[in-house]
Amino acid sequence: METWKILTTFAVAIAAYVFHGGDPPRIIQPRNPNDPERLPKGVTKKVLIVGGGLAGLSAGLELVERGYDVTIQEKNQVLGGRLMTEEVEVQGQTFHIEHGFHGWFNNYHNMKDLRNRLGVNKYFYPWVENYFMFRDYEMEEVHSVGPFPFNLLYLAVKSPNISLLKLMLNPLFASCTMFYNHDTFYERYENMTFAEFEDYYGIDKAFSDVLLKPALSATFNEPEVFSAAEMLMFSHFYFTGDDKADRREVTIVDYGTALINPWADRITQLGGKLQVNTPVGDLKIDPDNGRLTHVIDDETNQYDHVILATDLPATKKILESTIKSNYEMSPKIAEIYTNLKANVDKIPIAPPYKVIRVWFDKKMTNSPNFNVVQTPQHHPINLIAQYHLLEKEYMDWSEKTGGSVVEFHAYVWQHGNVSDDKVWDVIAPAVKEIYPEIIEREFKILYYHVYSYQNFASFSSGIEKYRPTSGYPQECGIPNLSFAGDWLHTDYPSALMERAVSTGREAANHILLKDHVRQVSLTVTGSHGPGII
Ligand SMILES: Cc1cc2nc3c(=O)[nH]c(=O)nc-3n(C[C@H](O)[C@H](O)[C@H](O)COP(=O)(O)OP(=O)(O)OC[C@H]3O[C@@H](n4cnc5c(N)ncnc54)[C@H](O)[C@@H]3O)c2cc1C
Repeated sequence: METWKILTTFAVAIAAYVFHGGDPPRIIQPRNPNDPERLPKGVTKKVLIVGGGLAGLSAGLELVERGYDVTIQEKNQVLGGRLMTEEVEVQGQTFHIEHGFHGWFNNYHNMKDLRNRLGVNKYFYPWVENYFMFRDYEMEEVHSVGPFPFNLLYLAVKSPNISLLKLMLNPLFASCTMFYNHDTFYERYENMTFAEFEDYYGIDKAFSDVLLKPALSATFNEPEVFSAAEMLMFSHFYFTGDDKADRREVTIVDYGTALINPWADRITQLGGKLQVNTPVGDLKIDPDNGRLTHVIDDETNQYDHVILATDLPATKKILESTIKSNYEMSPKIAEIYTNLKANVDKIPIAPPYKVIRVWFDKKMTNSPNFNVVQTPQHHPINLIAQYHLLEKEYMDWSEKTGGSVVEFHAYVWQHGNVSDDKVWDVIAPAVKEIYPEIIEREFKILYYHVYSYQNFASFSSGIEKYRPTSGYPQECGIPNLSFAGDWLHTDYPSALMERAVSTGREAANHILLKDHVRQVSLTVTGSHGPGII
């Protein structure tokens, strides 16, 4: 390729950056800035939040701070949802074990706001080096330095796998990344899978395999059907929407201690009620006006507002049993609920996944000493986190015993129903390829714990038009119901934990607007890439 082409592309990229540079984070201001900050004295408004994950806790804190009488009902025995921490006994010691390793990213603005308010930043530290191991490529350490487009150029220059030339002349890089537009891209690219998009635009395979596919796997979706629009949003949110977008943090202690417990304590201190081990089956509908009034079987607690902050499969189930139990509804109200449910049912559920944490009698000495490594080509393993290099409790145990604790993430599980005691046999061949030492030095398994779930929403192509927003139930005609969770649509770039927290805040805002209490502002990632247009 001629040098002038490279230089021209480079010049355009620089010009684009200089002239525009990407939207800064945007603040969504309250729609009712002149309303009071809290419910007036003497006014009681009761809110039921179903689900005590990030979305439910986010809504709960905003409302309880503004004087609401909040009850969160959670099915599990601990709060946190997919960020929950439980306790396990291993060789006479109690360990805190999470649902799986998580990273907190720079564009998690509302999550950062919560962390500041809860005073928990001391538990977080930068996770600078992001390692990848491949079958078809050399090992990579991916982290970008400097503003766009220099950060991508830096990645390419440093990479043993990505060609700078191909990256710079790549249509994804030039048009879709630089000119990402959250307001139009879903319409333009939603009906294509990312695989089709790659073919159509001739995306450099190495660029995609090394950078984009690992990011995609974090959604727990199958790459073959994943929507191109969602992938472009991901790339904006985690790479180019901000010059530090790929910066991330991890915790030095378990997620309960670092975040969930302080959050829950704050809600309780302000008078909120947190009820664990309390699965909500169905809700009572007022047959005259369609409002949800209470949990069936508990007439004593009547609510003014309800937020379903449950994961997608649970939301489908609750809507289904609520419709079944309220057989006396008027045909008009029955139709409203049936339409809402039919829409939610159009969002498929992503495949199952497993998270396996293993206590070994030894630690690796001859292998790369990564605290976390992503392994996108070593199915069924996508990510390995060495907890004795991450969290204090595990570091201390490893120091004392010489053992190690390693967590294996297996997304898009394709091996059917395998009992927990057989899971190691399924993943062991991939473990042997990634860290042969574990098998060759015959590490003894002292204990292992398996989480098996299927609770992520699918982001396959063509379904975004059905993905509801937090306020969708009200648009359908249910005056006092909102949704919250990472499976919803947002009008701004967001994903995963940040989407859960942001939609929780949106759900609280729907209620605040109705009750004439000033809404909470949201800080969100800008909707446009760093290009001029
Ligand atoms: C292994 C793993 C790794 C991840 N890594 C990352 C990462 O690095 N970065 C990132 O941003 N995100 C990551 N995520 C995703 C992140 O955890 C989720 O996006 C987020 O926690 C979702 O929060 P939520 O509140 O929307 O849903 P959930 O956490 O699923 O909360 C829903 C809650 O509803 C409860 N519930 C369900 N049914 C009922 C019922 N009938 N009655 C009462 N309660 C009910 C559930 O028990 C749950 O507590 C990861 C997830 C997993 C599993």
